Amino acid sequence: MVVDLRSDTVTKPTAGMLDAMYSAKVGDDVFEEDESINALEKKTAAIFGMQAGIFCPSGTMTNQIAIKCFTQPMDELIADQTAHVYRYEGGGIAFNSAVSTRLLNAERGILSAEMIAPEINADNVHYPHTSLVVLENTVNRGGGSCYTLNQIIPIAELCKQKGLKLHLDGARIFNALTKTGDKASEYGALFNGISVCLSKGLGAPVGSVLLADFETIKYARRIRKVLGGGMRQAGFLAAAGIYALDNHIERLKDDHNNAQMLSNILNNCNWVKSIIPVETNIIVFETIEPANNIIERLANYGIKALTTGPYSIRFVLHLDIQPQHMEHICNSLKLI
Ligand SMILES: *Cc1c(COP(=O)(O)O)cnc(C)c1O
Repeated sequence: MVVDLRSDTVTKPTAGMLDAMYSAKVGDDVFEEDESINALEKKTAAIFGMQAGIFCPSGTMTNQIAIKCFTQPMDELIADQTAHVYRYEGGGIAFNSAVSTRLLNAERGILSAEMIAPEINADNVHYPHTSLVVLENTVNRGGGSCYTLNQIIPIAELCKQKGLKLHLDGARIFNALTKTGDKASEYGALFNGISVCLSKGLGAPVGSVLLADFETIKYARRIRKVLGGGMRQAGFLAAAGIYALDNHIERLKDDHNNAQMLSNILNNCNWVKSIIPVETNIIVFETIEPANNIIERLANYGIKALTTGPYSIRFVLHLDIQPQHMEHICNSLKLI
């Protein structure tokens, strides 16, 4: 048996999702004539209480478009040092937007208004103009840590007061909402932009949606075109996204329960030094031996995982990890 815990991006479409894709109504989306894409954009915007959405090939593209929309060259954005937009988007902030990045160092990547306020530059020609704050929920490198709405509200208020835009990298926003019980519809009033990923825990093969107001999304269409992300009959992919929103949100709690179960087992493994407390579908743990040794031993049992440091490993739970896989992992962890 092969069990892939490297990422929640590895899921394959289910039979139901493939049916939905096969029967999708499509058109040319650059002419805004793809019914499935239009429906997905409207549906996602409505879920989060935002005006409009734009379907993009990747979460990276939604984040990069948002940063471009909310900044001018020479500006600065504020993010935690764990941020995907900074670490894992290939230097795109500098390349696409000619913007510098002010990195904070928060516990598990969870920023607060108190941390952000002193990092906003004064209006002085020496300093780059601070124009944007980017939050991530859940925080990937924070071990799947979450913001609650009550933690976000003071940050949103600070940004409004100081005239900064606020963007949410919500690649795993539904994992956060599953954990906190907060309402998605309350997010719209707090953020200028929200990226929602369909191809992580929700199990769609491709795609993310950027949400914002009408005017921003109009400009975002221009930037998406420039980046080469203007797709044509991509409604087959959007149909998978709609199916995922309708069918795969409820079940995220199973991933969270599975992560908790694995964490409990790891806790009793003598090769594990410590585990970051599990909040959602991600487990990050420190190992006593070099992480690569453990990865090799896991591979002997068909279990794939990634290191996040020389003595650190990440497991990510997702739609394709079913009870029989869990049983296999639980048994194997005790043997390696
Ligand atoms: C995966 C991910 C993204 C987007 O990744 P793509 O592979 O470009 O879709 C963005 N932010 C976070 C936190 C992620 O984990």
